Amino acid sequence: MIEFEALKPQNLKEALAVLKERGIDIKLLAGGTDLLVEINNNSDRLGNFKYLMDISSIKGLDEIENEKKHLIIGALCTHTQIIESKLIEGKFPILVRGAKTIGSTQIRNRGTIGGNINNGSPAADLITPLLALKSSVILKSKNKKRELPLQDFITGPYKTDRKEDEILTKIKIPKINSDYQSSFQKVKRRQAVAISRINLAVVTDIKEMRFNDIRIAFGSATPTAIRFLKMEKKLKQTQINELNFDSIIEQTGQEMVEIAGERWSTPYKKPVVGNLLIRALQEIIREVQ
Ligand SMILES: Cc1cc2nc3c(=O)[nH]c(=O)nc-3n(C[C@H](O)[C@H](O)[C@H](O)COP(=O)(O)OP(=O)(O)OC[C@H]3O[C@@H](n4cnc5c(N)ncnc54)[C@H](O)[C@@H]3O)c2cc1C
Repeated sequence: MIEFEALKPQNLKEALAVLKERGIDIKLLAGGTDLLVEINNNSDRLGNFKYLMDISSIKGLDEIENEKKHLIIGALCTHTQIIESKLIEGKFPILVRGAKTIGSTQIRNRGTIGGNINNGSPAADLITPLLALKSSVILKSKNKKRELPLQDFITGPYKTDRKEDEILTKIKIPKINSDYQSSFQKVKRRQAVAISRINLAVVTDIKEMRFNDIRIAFGSATPTAIRFLKMEKKLKQTQINELNFDSIIEQTGQEMVEIAGERWSTPYKKPVVGNLLIRALQEIIREVQ
């Protein structure tokens, strides 16, 4: 059994001060829907820690701010908050689509966007939409604040660039104009309370019937969720009515293998990623026609 002491700071300042002193021995707890399962299972991923610091009620980290050029989502916003936010639904419906597929009502009420990112699972259902939206993350320590692209923050499966004295405080999403369309796809083993076998987020605008600024992010197809830059390049400026399905299926599968190598799941996933991309593109095309 894992033994630890519980800490409950009153505010962010106090949390960061304690992290500065004892960060190496501390695990942060937000909604607990990933972490408590790992503690219960005595997971190898946990490493050693002496303190569990509950940050779930720190004020100010659960707000959604509408800035001129960005939407800022507090790391402690729950999936339910994201689903219920008219602001997010209006600007980034793909994030709402992703959040709606997460777990069950209970999980969505507890689980947070910050926890989904920091857990670093390749299958996390908010990471792919956030990558396709070119999001960045803001981290705070006692004396420093830094911002980096989400893609750089995720450094490996279940690994991030978070330093031991830092808390992820905010997620920053650049605004896009209303011409942009999006699609979120999730392949899962059953209809409800199911982790993604593969997920996909596509965000694009269409100019003169051609894909323009197209972003394609896959989760669980590669060791970490990642944008498929070659496929983005291939599809940019392609007429939406002239898609070559066979070559998209072939080249998306190829790009997956180039990034991930051959794995036990490759024979299944290689054709599925391309087919999923076609499904997403067709959904988007239906919207604009
Ligand atoms: C039954 C079940 C079904 C699930 N279904 C899905 C699903 O369909 N899709 C999906 O994506 N996920 C799913 N999950 C996983 C989980 O619910 C989500 O990843 C959730 O968003 C995690 O958030 P949390 O607040 O509960 O994180 P926690 O468990 O509290 O923390 C997760 C990790 O992030 C760290 N952390 C949390 N917040 C911060 C912060 N602000 N700064 C720095 N580090 C932080 C913690 O230290 C820990 O390492 C499921 C989980 C369960 C138990």
